Amino acid sequence: MQFTDFSLDKRLLQSLKHMGIETPTPIQSQAIPVAMSGKDLMASSKTGSGKTLAFLLPALQRVISTKALSKRDPRVLILLPTRELAQQVYAQLRLLVANTQYRAISVLGGENFNDQAKALAKEPQFIVATPGRIADHLEQRHLFLSGLELLILDEADRMLDLGFAPQLKAINAAADHRRRQTLMFSATLDHGEVQELASELLNEPEHIAIDAVH
Ligand code: ADP
Ligand code: MG
Repeated sequence: MQFTDFSLDKRLLQSLKHMGIETPTPIQSQAIPVAMSGKDLMASSKTGSGKTLAFLLPALQRVISTKALSKRDPRVLILLPTRELAQQVYAQLRLLVANTQYRAISVLGGENFNDQAKALAKEPQFIVATPGRIADHLEQRHLFLSGLELLILDEADRMLDLGFAPQLKAINAAADHRRRQTLMFSATLDHGEVQELASELLNEPEHIAIDAVH
């Protein structure tokens, strides 16, 4: 399978080329078509298997190829358990977004809250965030999620282990509408709390497990 087998915008294919990425990994081959079909997804595969592009490429493609539900609200929100993981995803997202007219910001714990509020007010289409900080901005009404089109939870098991279930549920509730798609990635699927969160956030999800950790 090749990236050209997915109906990806040529700007995304160009960016992949610049990143030196040629052939999809197994999780990318399986997850990208499901995510691009608009279905919800629960996926697991081991560290280093390429999960980031498995969700970033469908996210970019959706924003490029469809009209926004809302001009004000972010279209894609990507949540990660830690600053470090979020920074890694944000770095890849910036490479992809740089070749488009869209804007991405990161909203991480430990950074200046007022600067983040100002960045949110500029209406970026993509936000990469840690759950606690984004929940704080929601509460302060610096951010609205009624127009969110795609919610992505990466390392969902670690977010739950760190005690972020209440924030994840608040974010989900703020973005609760029929046209929202949700993608959830986790190192392990047989984690009681992950199953519970999936049943609350996902709507008839497809399941993909590659070399899952049990
Ligand atoms: P995971 O989230 O599954 O741990 P990452 O998405 O962080 O994995 O990817 C791990 C590394 O593999 C990154 O450096 C990324 O740039 C690289 N990578 C991702 N997809 C591909 C690919 N299709 N071909 C080559 N390298 C890739
Ligand atoms: Mg990852």
